[in-house]
Amino acid sequence: MDASEFRRRGKEMVDYVADYLEGIEGRPVYPNVEPGYLRPLIPTEAPQEPEAFEDVINDLEKIIMPGAASPACTELETVMMDWLGKMLQLPEEFLAGKDGEGGGVIQGSASEATLVALLAARTKVTRRLQAASPELTQAAIMEKLVAYFSDQAHSSVERAGLIGGVQMKAIPSDGKFAMRASALQEALERDKAAGLIPFLVVATLGTTSCCSFDNLLEVGPICKKEDMWLHIDAAYAGSAFICPEFRHLLNGVEFADSFNFNPHKWLLVNFDCSAMWVKKRTDLTGAFKLDPVYLKHSHQDSGLITDYRHWQIPLGRRFRSLKLWFVFRMYGVKGLQAHIRKHVQLAHKFESLVRQDSRFEICAEVTLGLVCFRLKGSNQLNEALLQRINNAKKIHLVPCHLRDKFVLRFAICSRMVESAHVQFAWEHIRELGEDVLRAEKK
Ligand code: PLP
Repeated sequence: MDASEFRRRGKEMVDYVADYLEGIEGRPVYPNVEPGYLRPLIPTEAPQEPEAFEDVINDLEKIIMPGAASPACTELETVMMDWLGKMLQLPEEFLAGKDGEGGGVIQGSASEATLVALLAARTKVTRRLQAASPELTQAAIMEKLVAYFSDQAHSSVERAGLIGGVQMKAIPSDGKFAMRASALQEALERDKAAGLIPFLVVATLGTTSCCSFDNLLEVGPICKKEDMWLHIDAAYAGSAFICPEFRHLLNGVEFADSFNFNPHKWLLVNFDCSAMWVKKRTDLTGAFKLDPVYLKHSHQDSGLITDYRHWQIPLGRRFRSLKLWFVFRMYGVKGLQAHIRKHVQLAHKFESLVRQDSRFEICAEVTLGLVCFRLKGSNQLNEALLQRINNAKKIHLVPCHLRDKFVLRFAICSRMVESAHVQFAWEHIRELGEDVLRAEKK
């Protein structure tokens, strides 16, 4: 949708809302639908090709409005998370289907998803240990719990441990910045010998610093053997798994208990929308369920409906699945795949420009839309380069540390980015690089 169509459609939407408000007296107060009404009304999978905006809007009136804010909000979310799960080829166990044990929920952020997984895992292990030894108090168990994450994981992972009141240990990553079996096993053995209780591993697919991938095929079986919850944080990289050529990066997801990524990062969905799936919904509902009288409803224990309030930290929730529904239908799976592929191709273009200049080096494998690079030389030199780039305000780069190296990160982000922008950015960086090298020689 270009700017002029967006302007026109936006005005139509304002009219739609105004008409709704004007005609509100004529609408039913209470939705006249039965649980599960929505799923049969829409396809079982996202369309491959883009659809017309009119078709989506017509369905809004036909399918969503009869279910008002709820149950339509809940039911569309469950079905959209199944659509998205199928786009990623997630194992069947993560899908809700009509009566699956798993399913997806839209959280606000990857940080929340990690925290929810950690709290659910904490409850699960506590109940398991108390079932075997009823004399154990929750406090006695809590002080021994330990969770693991790679030293490349996002800070939100360690923060989940801080909030959840459990010890977190960073596992040293390998030469490709990936968490591997040997380092995890070593930490586990040491901690078990010290009387600690390992209960959770958070693996990252697409780390923030350099988009590295923890080795799920190694880490997963260890989690199974040790009865530890495996949560996967693929906040950025997850969107790429809708492309068959990148799906292999998700191999090993079958070992996970929960998986999360942010469609708001790279799947053209506006902030906020963080997609989380679990294999066993009872792991969440079992951990977070409380039913005060003011939240009771007639389908409470019928098993017919999903009560998302038990899957998350807040009670109230937004109708975020509408964004997924619109985006999936307006782009089609093929349109979304084309968007991802274009960004990856542009990242490789930037990578090859860097490689052609022997004064620069690439610092980590380029797999998706992020290129880590630097001038060959000291950290001060690269800090000076970054400062010049960001002071010039023509492009914006965020740095990272990879081991002891200060590294610049070139991230392809915008929906509107073109090859010419990448070329422009590189020439700008190269010129400033020359300035920095000249200044160093003086
Ligand atoms: N995990 C990874 C790998 C990230 O790159 C980020 C943010 O960049 C996060 C988690 C945090 O995401 P959120 O802002 O959704 O909590």
